[in-house]
Amino acid sequence: MSLQQPKTKALYQRGTSVMPYGVNSNFRYWGPDDTLVMTRGEGAYVWDADGKRYIDYRLGFGPVILGHAYPAVIEKVGQTLKGGNIFAWTTPLEIELAERIARMCKIDKVRLTNSGTEATMHALRIARAHTGREKFIKFEGQYHGMADYFMFSTASTEKGPLGSRRSPINVPSTSGIPKAITNYVINLPFNDIERLEREVRAVWGDLAAIIVEPIMGNVAGVMPEPGWLQAIRSLCDEYGVVFIMDEVKTGFRIARGGAQEYFGVRADLVTYAKALGNGFPIAAIAGRDEVMMTIEPGRVAHAGTFSGNLVGVAAAVATLDILESEPILETINQRGQMLISGLGEVLADAGIPHAMMGLPSMFGFILGTDEPATDFRAYLEGDAALYERIALGMSRRGVQPDVDGREPWFLCYSHSEQDISETLTVFEEAVKEAKG
Ligand code: PMP
Repeated sequence: MSLQQPKTKALYQRGTSVMPYGVNSNFRYWGPDDTLVMTRGEGAYVWDADGKRYIDYRLGFGPVILGHAYPAVIEKVGQTLKGGNIFAWTTPLEIELAERIARMCKIDKVRLTNSGTEATMHALRIARAHTGREKFIKFEGQYHGMADYFMFSTASTEKGPLGSRRSPINVPSTSGIPKAITNYVINLPFNDIERLEREVRAVWGDLAAIIVEPIMGNVAGVMPEPGWLQAIRSLCDEYGVVFIMDEVKTGFRIARGGAQEYFGVRADLVTYAKALGNGFPIAAIAGRDEVMMTIEPGRVAHAGTFSGNLVGVAAAVATLDILESEPILETINQRGQMLISGLGEVLADAGIPHAMMGLPSMFGFILGTDEPATDFRAYLEGDAALYERIALGMSRRGVQPDVDGREPWFLCYSHSEQDISETLTVFEEAVKEAKG
């Protein structure tokens, strides 16, 4: 049974005649029968073109931290834009936003940009310019945006070709990138301190950066084991390598100061996007003074016509103001915990082995085993087909997590206790159906 009802189907088909596969991001393509067209969002809900309402746990892939069309954010953007959007000069609101990010994340310097991809791409360039080295380490299953350098062994990679854990192979996640780029990229398993140490000792003279998502936000919320992020910090200190923490998903979501605050580990450069602007396009590269000041007009480039545009900046100032002054994340955590416990109970009652992963504001789960995954390879051992059947069954019933279990469930301030209990009822029905 297709998720598309008649009006949605007609719009989707119209879209396919002018946009490849009818979408503006491949991650939005659920196949010809289940790709939806949304016409409206408010709070925790989105409505498709047929007026069908969904409780939304995708939240635009994570950015919506307060709720769709959150009035205070919309108001601030509207008011600000009456005075123009972009001037080829700095505005006072940009300065205010940089000050807020610096204060909340206890970080020295900030540069604004528009997407997570731009932020990680610039962070890597700054790290290379700072160290005069060219290679970097990332971890299997981690996704850092669409720039060529990061598109190896991402979360989209299949189980087969990764090679052995001792000597992982860089698997391109797309064609269309030059083969030679693989020579600058080293993929290693997440959470394996001994393997990481061995690599850093061998290649540190060429190593500009280690980039890490502190929680595997593109692999069901796999958590860092105790000591893992600290081990990256000390290796970077010992060998003069730039530690880049990619907080595009965790920033302003798992704590006001993001993963640095939550795990008590400081990186040299940090990238933010998503929750920073409650869904408006805004991102940031932030970091230690010494590393950020590598940016220098005429020598080390960071630019962007739309960097600091007031649409994103106004949204971010309003969002951070609310996050700083109200118990938003505390409320999200409490509702998220209710949801995680409830989902676990349903799975236990249904006799399905499972393990919950991540944190209440962004979590995932693995089916077919009781062991939480500690890296990408372990996650791939789970029952992804069962997960997909359950998630599709939920969408049919008006509750929407991603069908791909690698994408976490995101919570926002607008999810109510009533939404959680409706979700659990629907989950129970979908589990029964998927098992049968
Ligand atoms: N880093 C991480 C950890 C991400 O999850 C993403 C996007 N999901 C990105 C970078 C890229 O961000 P964007 O899609 O805004 O370019």
